[in-house]
Amino acid sequence: MKKPNRSEAAPKRLAPPGFVFIPLGGTGEIGMNFNLYGLDGQWLAIDCGMGFSGPDAPEAEILLPDPSFIAAQRETLLGLVITHAHEDHIGGVARLWPQLRCPVYATPFCAAILRRKLNEAGLGRDVKIIVTQPGARFTIGPFALRSIPMTHSTPEMQALAITTSYGTVLHTGDWKFDAHPVVGLPPDEAGLREIGDAGVLAIIGDSTNAQVDGHSGSEADVAKSLKSLIADIPGRIAVTCFASNVARVASLIKAGEAAGRHVALIGRSLGNYVAAAQESGYLADVPDFLSEEDIGSVPNDSLLMLCTGSQGEPRSALARISLNTHRYASLGEGDTAIFSSRMIPGNERAITAVQDALVRRGVDVITDDDEFTHVSGHPAREELKKLYALVRPQYLVPTHGEWRHLSAQAALAGDLGITPLLLENGDVLQLAPGAPAVIDTVPVGRLAVDGEKIVPLKGGVLAARKRMLFNGVIVGSAVMDAGGRLIGSARVAAPGLVDEAEVKRLRELEREFTDMLANLPAETRRDEQLAADAARAGLRRLVGKHFGKRPIVEAHLMRT
Ligand SMILES: [Zn+2]
Repeated sequence: MKKPNRSEAAPKRLAPPGFVFIPLGGTGEIGMNFNLYGLDGQWLAIDCGMGFSGPDAPEAEILLPDPSFIAAQRETLLGLVITHAHEDHIGGVARLWPQLRCPVYATPFCAAILRRKLNEAGLGRDVKIIVTQPGARFTIGPFALRSIPMTHSTPEMQALAITTSYGTVLHTGDWKFDAHPVVGLPPDEAGLREIGDAGVLAIIGDSTNAQVDGHSGSEADVAKSLKSLIADIPGRIAVTCFASNVARVASLIKAGEAAGRHVALIGRSLGNYVAAAQESGYLADVPDFLSEEDIGSVPNDSLLMLCTGSQGEPRSALARISLNTHRYASLGEGDTAIFSSRMIPGNERAITAVQDALVRRGVDVITDDDEFTHVSGHPAREELKKLYALVRPQYLVPTHGEWRHLSAQAALAGDLGITPLLLENGDVLQLAPGAPAVIDTVPVGRLAVDGEKIVPLKGGVLAARKRMLFNGVIVGSAVMDAGGRLIGSARVAAPGLVDEAEVKRLRELEREFTDMLANLPAETRRDEQLAADAARAGLRRLVGKHFGKRPIVEAHLMRT
């Protein structure tokens, strides 16, 4: 009888021994951070994000990581800890929690944001949120956690030191070193050094700006720049930034106040984040905001409008203003719109459409190309080096970024004597005992939110094609007899992956692949599906070892 295809069967349960790490969605173009740490079969999740689909999948606006692997063994999932309140770290909780059903740990600001989302989803009473303070130490089953306050582009960013009987890893989340973050605590460098002194096995961390030299820059410097910019401009001013960047919002409110302007918040998400910040003790000393209805009653030179829409979102405040369809707010000749943000790749067309419409109305548009209006929330290379120097890990697992960002961080760490370990979503990295190694893969994928339903996204073909263009494809083939014994040698073809100078290396890889197939355990090679999985996993490891790349890997085993 033929066995069912693995991918159609229920997800396999897996309780690998030791201390393991599995990224379930943080790598790639649309990073949806969802990470698992395992300790002898008990699991801890860190972050549960969502993504916005780009031109790749216009049929679905919101994407989620596929939780089926952990959902199938959710009784062993002890908790979900959130590092910070960005959508790509928190946005999946309300939709995926019904499949996870574990307690959720968050800092006060993050918990305030999460509660709003859960209430909207009707889950407010079901989900147990455990509020932990930035810098707190707490345990979840066999995992001892220490929150290390870091800075980012939203308050209360916490890196997590996770200590087990096998050692400690530092899961950085998104971070930067900003000694003057405007809102919230500065980075806890002493805490980082302390965990470094005690010994850290691996840093698992943010690669977003690993190709950027120098430092990311400070929120306090942006605040100064915005203050002098806004002081000098006549007419009405609209500024847009990410609503979640509470420090930026605070800086803009102060800049408006210093220039003698009344400040209005326009757009729902700005109101939500400001309310959550105030509930958590931030933005205590801001003046009363001007209501939207009162905008028209204020002289042009006395008005500062903080608007949603930095990414050109069509229903945002700034997009409506640009088309003159906002009920209360408008801009025209002699007025200015400031973008205190960057263009997220994929949003360029939407953003430039809004900017074009504003310019057509006679509005002066200022972006971070023209003036110092924005800093990134992610670490540039000097900050990465500083983190490594404080923490002194043996290994570095780059996450959060596309392949070129991960490779850049891996190379940087490698140059500094730290062994990099490159993973793809779904790789099971056994951190300890023994030398770290990828020991398995689990199913991962993207789900699309389709109204009330969550459905698999049929975007796999395009994604695979992209990866092929970028990293090449490698195909291993071999012939086996009915019992799975190898006949002759395996062959490996790698169009677009190796150049002529590397052909020798490819032949070496081919020999090792042949050996690997010949030495498969008897029960594995007798089962066609198991043998094919093992061949593919083995070939991937060899490609990583010989070429440091992760192309599309195919293994074809033919049986006589
Ligand atoms: Zn973030």
